[in-house]
Amino acid sequence: LSEKLSGILDALTRRGALTEEDVNAALREVRRALLEADVALDVVRSFIDKVRARAVGAEVIKSVTPGQMVVKIVHDQLVEMLGAEAAPISLDAVPPVAILMVGLQGSGKTTTTAKIAKRLTDRMKRKVLMASLDTRRPAAMEQLAVLGRQVHVDTLPIVPGQSAVQIARRAMEAARLGGYDVVMLDTAGRVTVDEALMLEAAEVKAATEPHEVLLVADSLTGQDAVNTAKAFDARVGLTGIVLTRMDGDGRGGAALSMRAVTGKPIKLAGTGEKVDALEDFHPARVANRILGMGDIVSLVEKAAETIDAEKARRIAEKMRKGAFDLEDMREQLRQMESIGGMKGVLGMLPGIGKMKAQLEAANLDDKVIRRQRAIIDSMTPQERRNPDILKASRKKRIAAGSGTRVEDVNRLLKMHRQMADVMKMMGKGGRGGLGGALGR
Ligand code: GDP
Ligand code: MG
Repeated sequence: LSEKLSGILDALTRRGALTEEDVNAALREVRRALLEADVALDVVRSFIDKVRARAVGAEVIKSVTPGQMVVKIVHDQLVEMLGAEAAPISLDAVPPVAILMVGLQGSGKTTTTAKIAKRLTDRMKRKVLMASLDTRRPAAMEQLAVLGRQVHVDTLPIVPGQSAVQIARRAMEAARLGGYDVVMLDTAGRVTVDEALMLEAAEVKAATEPHEVLLVADSLTGQDAVNTAKAFDARVGLTGIVLTRMDGDGRGGAALSMRAVTGKPIKLAGTGEKVDALEDFHPARVANRILGMGDIVSLVEKAAETIDAEKARRIAEKMRKGAFDLEDMREQLRQMESIGGMKGVLGMLPGIGKMKAQLEAANLDDKVIRRQRAIIDSMTPQERRNPDILKASRKKRIAAGSGTRVEDVNRLLKMHRQMADVMKMMGKGGRGGLGGALGR
């Protein structure tokens, strides 16, 4: 994505909040980039809508352009849609735990079965049994046996003439008798999704009650992979997706579409033909690949960090001098909100026992934080710097302006005085205190 977007980005040089035009211009190009990366059209639409809602009106960090800011917001939204939290394979069931591998022929099922078996054996110390249910191609069973020897994982002995369901039952029985923790079931695939394939997968599922049903999908096949995922989820029911050939030069659009269409987590990524070429799925990396703008993203992140660190340093400096005004308090409240409210802050602060008790006594939850910011926002800059000048009539106006009561205003002022005192004390300790902790 392209010089075109860069051009538009450069053109957006105004500061302040992002306008609708800023956002729309950038999003037109983002839309094109997503389509080029083979993201499904429906997914692109809903994605763009989400980004627009998030971006219009967002504040642009100083030292980056509005266009760069949009890219960062797009990136964050991509990561969120790809699944921000890790989704490991679950073995949380009574052993032997069955894991059913489904997908089209050539997607990488057999290879991935061996890769996962190796990982569970080496890292999780599980006793794993693999079984090939690919009755159509005898070579496929032999392929799994060869891989099994390579990764030192047992495979179910081959008995010719059995159906997939019969083999699956035999595998579960052998696992129970042999004290195995996990049974990996590698199924046959077809070139396209068809009825016989679905029926067989559904039957095997009913017979083995697998704890995980993983769709193995080739990330290079784009749109097709999405339709495959939809069909398998509807007929068999998936618990997760493994994307293979992430080492190829695809842009990863399939990942976004599959995740959006099925709502199923992408659990792992295949990154090569070797048996250890299996990685946890990293949404941020794929987001960078789709967008192709990793540099801008890290630039904006750096800028945001620097600014927060700078502000924190300035506040810490003022605290040392005992000049912690309401302007600073507002900034502190903003930072608290951005790192997950009071609970997040308290968790991060070392040695803050006394202050913690005070803050808790003040019942400083997130709603309260928002209300307090509203109160401060309703003051004039002069009042924020020197709250002592506030008269009763002004307090009444401020309360009205912020939708609160005069008691709330008084409570805020009292809290500010307490905070200023505590911070002065902490400041004398020579450390950055709250500011330092927040700005790490
Ligand atoms: P199946 O038909 O779904 O069982 O697919 P296979 O496991 O037999 O894999 C088909 C081909 O894809 C083999 O040559 C594998 O080595 C290759 N393959 C599987 N996963 C990956 C991957 O993540 N990256 C690359 N480059 N090749 C892979
Ligand atoms: Mg196979």
